Amino acid sequence: MPRETYHAAMRARGDEFGLVRHDGFLFPLAEPGKVPANMTHIETPQDPVGLARAGMQARAQVDGLLALFKAEFPDAFGAARVATYGQPGIRQTRTIEGRSRITVDDVRAGHRPDDTIARCSWPIELHTDMADTHWEVFADDHMHWIPFGAMVPQGLDNVITAGRCIEAEPAALASVRVMGPCFAMGRAAANAAAQVGAGSFHQIDMNALQDAVAENLDATTDDPWTAAFVSERGREADGA
Ligand SMILES: Cc1cc2nc3c(=O)[nH]c(=O)nc-3n(C[C@H](O)[C@H](O)[C@H](O)COP(=O)(O)OP(=O)(O)OC[C@H]3O[C@@H](n4cnc5c(N)ncnc54)[C@H](O)[C@@H]3O)c2cc1C
Repeated sequence: MPRETYHAAMRARGDEFGLVRHDGFLFPLAEPGKVPANMTHIETPQDPVGLARAGMQARAQVDGLLALFKAEFPDAFGAARVATYGQPGIRQTRTIEGRSRITVDDVRAGHRPDDTIARCSWPIELHTDMADTHWEVFADDHMHWIPFGAMVPQGLDNVITAGRCIEAEPAALASVRVMGPCFAMGRAAANAAAQVGAGSFHQIDMNALQDAVAENLDATTDDPWTAAFVSERGREADGA
């Protein structure tokens, strides 16, 4: 189902079904009959009672979403059930003070730093609003790059980070924090840890590290299944 079809239904009838968010994704899986949905928004307080309450609100949103889809798309969702509710999660919180910082300008320009260890083409996906998400989508051939320096905390020799805790401007992190780049950063961190011994992460042999993760930097192969998915467009594809 095209994304815009279910987004339109969420915008038109979301209030009726208690939805807070009016965008998000249904993810096609290779396995038929199951579909993960990433389409709810809740506040995520840090006190345990508040977090538990927020989790209940999220479940109510999931139930509302399914009821809406059953009403609007009975052929696809008439017999659907929720297999697993998600846990409350915070996309972006604290980050390290790294040796270098990924900026929004770096992301937009596709600046490739000398110490890059991973790449990313995901849009800026900033969740600052409960009802909607800010998208800044790049051209099909766009690529931006993650410097190793953004993973190395200032003033610490024996600590390396990977994932959404790296040093980046919040809107830049809103792109590079998605799972693919996190995996790639983890691979680079593991290779750096194997290399560092009793030395410092500030003195890694970058050529050796980049050789170790070369396929994450320059490989151009396509997985056969991607053709079925990459053509889907939505409001976010237009930068909405
Ligand atoms: C609601 C939500 C929806 C998202 N949707 C998507 C999506 O659709 N697609 C996508 O690509 N990305 C999505 N993301 C982003 C992506 O999932 C995260 O940014 C990414 O998983 C972060 O990876 P990470 O390794 O940095 O951290 P995490 O995946 O959070 O991993 C950190 C791990 O460390 C463990 N840990 C914490 N403290 C300790 C400790 N003291 N000792 C041992 N272990 C510890 C945690 O339990 C956790 O397993 C979403 C994020 C959220 C919150």
